[in-house]
Amino acid sequence: MNLPSPGLPDFDYVSADTSDEVVSLLLKYPNDARLFMGGTDIFLHMRDRLVTPKLLVDVKHLPGMTSIDFDPKSGLRLGAAATLNMIARHQAVVKYYSLLAEAIDAFGMYQLRNRATIGGNLCNASPCADTGPIALVYEASLLAIGPKGERTIPAAEFFLGPGKNALDEGEFLMRIDFPTPPKGCAGRYLKLGRNSAGDLALVSAAVMAYPDESVKSSYSFRLALASVAPTPIRVPAAEAILARDPLTDETIELAANEAEATSRPIDDIRASAHYRKAMVKALTRRGILEVRTMLEKEG
Ligand SMILES: Cc1cc2nc3c(=O)[nH]c(=O)nc-3n(C[C@H](O)[C@H](O)[C@H](O)COP(=O)(O)OP(=O)(O)OC[C@H]3O[C@@H](n4cnc5c(N)ncnc54)[C@H](O)[C@@H]3O)c2cc1C
Repeated sequence: MNLPSPGLPDFDYVSADTSDEVVSLLLKYPNDARLFMGGTDIFLHMRDRLVTPKLLVDVKHLPGMTSIDFDPKSGLRLGAAATLNMIARHQAVVKYYSLLAEAIDAFGMYQLRNRATIGGNLCNASPCADTGPIALVYEASLLAIGPKGERTIPAAEFFLGPGKNALDEGEFLMRIDFPTPPKGCAGRYLKLGRNSAGDLALVSAAVMAYPDESVKSSYSFRLALASVAPTPIRVPAAEAILARDPLTDETIELAANEAEATSRPIDDIRASAHYRKAMVKALTRRGILEVRTMLEKEG
């Protein structure tokens, strides 16, 4: 058994003032420098000697890193180091991005959310990260800064595997952009942990839908799952069923079956793959039913 080691290994700390400084430190020390914002992932990894960086580069004080801006036309722009509590209490998030607020509400505990950042959660690229499926259903994009300048990465291309993201050598995450949600959009984020006191997700499902006259059912759905594959995943086959057929209980059952079939969970210390699959189906079904009720009330 891997017992936690006492304390952190020795390291140097730099609080970066400019993007250029961050990029040049990452290029100069590719194996020894790691980025740092809230530290709620990296310090645990260091404590457990999973990583032993000689240099931590603090990027949260760079200009714009904690800003939160909303424009009804272009949407929400979140600095990568905006903390989860800053985001959840922002008026525009409460009003227009309720799925994001709901996911943050289900995330750890209040004290942690004062420290944990959205960028750290995405960059850590854990399959169970709560903001992963949210970035997928809102079709967010991530702004990276690196040796060649700025680059935008769609959320759908950002997660490459457990702990692996699409940032190249010398790049760091600066901002996450959430487009304006479709008109009339409703959503639910359902998360199952081992307890209700802020555990990591065993399974979670983000369900978003909005009226859409261009599809037969009159509603377009976006579904994403976490903790049941090496990365957060969308479920396009279930979304296609919900666009094609009237939103009856049978259609919803078919879509939930498809979500279960698409998921690829593993057995681990927190739950069996078998249980996780059953819960994918249950959470997806419940999420769609609840969103259907929300849409009917609106309509
Ligand atoms: C008690 C506890 C409960 C938790 N509960 C949850 C939970 O319910 N749901 C959940 O999803 N997570 C949970 N977490 C995990 C963690 O809190 C989150 O992933 C958090 O959002 C990470 O943000 P941070 O700012 O602390 O990241 P950091 O630890 O600072 O960084 C995380 C990773 O991203 C890298 N990084 C940091 N900044 C950048 C950047 N700008 N560009 C590129 N890479 C960067 C770091 O090098 C590191 O690898 C929990 C953690 C703890 C300790």
